[in-house]
Amino acid sequence: MDIKKLVKKNILNITPYIAGKPIEETKREMGLKEVIKLASNENPLGPSPKAAQAVRNSVLTMNRYPDSNSFYLKRKIASGLELNAANIVLGNGSDELIDIIIRTFVEDDENIVTADITFLEYEIISAVYGRRVKKVPLRDFKYNLRAIRKNIDRKTKLVFMANPNNPTGTYVNKCELEEFLRGLPGHVILVLDEAYDTFIDTGDYPRGLDYITKNNIIVLKTFSKAYGLAGLRIGYAVAKTGFTKYMEKVRQPFNVNLLAQEAAKAALDDNSFLRRTRKTILEGKKYLYRSLEQMKLRYVPSVTNFILIDVGKGSLGVFKDMLKLGVIIRDMRQYGLNNFIRVTVGTPKENRKFIAALKKVL
Ligand code: PMP
Repeated sequence: MDIKKLVKKNILNITPYIAGKPIEETKREMGLKEVIKLASNENPLGPSPKAAQAVRNSVLTMNRYPDSNSFYLKRKIASGLELNAANIVLGNGSDELIDIIIRTFVEDDENIVTADITFLEYEIISAVYGRRVKKVPLRDFKYNLRAIRKNIDRKTKLVFMANPNNPTGTYVNKCELEEFLRGLPGHVILVLDEAYDTFIDTGDYPRGLDYITKNNIIVLKTFSKAYGLAGLRIGYAVAKTGFTKYMEKVRQPFNVNLLAQEAAKAALDDNSFLRRTRKTILEGKKYLYRSLEQMKLRYVPSVTNFILIDVGKGSLGVFKDMLKLGVIIRDMRQYGLNNFIRVTVGTPKENRKFIAALKKVL
């Protein structure tokens, strides 16, 4: 019996998500003692200290199941947003919320529209459920909303929009989003993924939460980036209860673990960590821009904590050579950007190490 015949057809051809290479793996493979990772847009300052303390305080209760409704955390998130707990759905990272949204809303014969090039999980998770995805090319590294509108048809249920976008670091501004919303048919839900909104430093960025009452919008947020909790896996969706009450039926009862709930609750109070993180990223980015300009390298200006860089030659080779020097970055071949790398802004020391290594490699 050919085992392949036992696997669902839509699963056979899926290319799995390639995650950033782990630090320990790189040390092991390269025989290095010091390795820095600037590959997954993580927080270089570590986790929020308040969150870390909350985890320490609750470790000895982990024999218990987590609160399946995350009562205190939802209440806290909601009150910060001047909404109700019922407007919040928590997920095991925002990755899981993408999965929950597709399972809750998209029928077998309906399709999903997103950009080509954007966060790959939209396409991969859609493929797992056998849903058709229409990918609309970027324009100048930005979501092309007019072209996306043209690709929406009677059978379109979801539009996924990462704002800011990963891996380009660009964003859709307020005017552009509002024009798009005016033309969006009532049978379509827009998922606005705001994983990187904390790093924004421009005035015309549209906060998705301002639009959720009047529009069919689900906003996604994560604790993975600004709060430094990527390893705990926690994110949330915010939307009208008309949407959230059905997403609640789809999620697993214990999808958000006990330590993540405690950490997230404490992180929300950690404003000084958030400020320090923002400062580190904005200053680090300026240093990286300056250095790249001196090296005459083209990059895409970014409102996030990462930069897409045109290295002018095969990114796989650059990635491998950087690994040998103890610097993990992301090579962008999986996105079809064969001469591009993506680097996460690190601490000043990490940024200097990255630039020194890049100079050697190029
Ligand atoms: N959305 C975007 C645009 C991202 O870049 C990422 C992380 N790479 C995620 C969602 C997933 O984040 P989380 O850790 O919350 O699953």
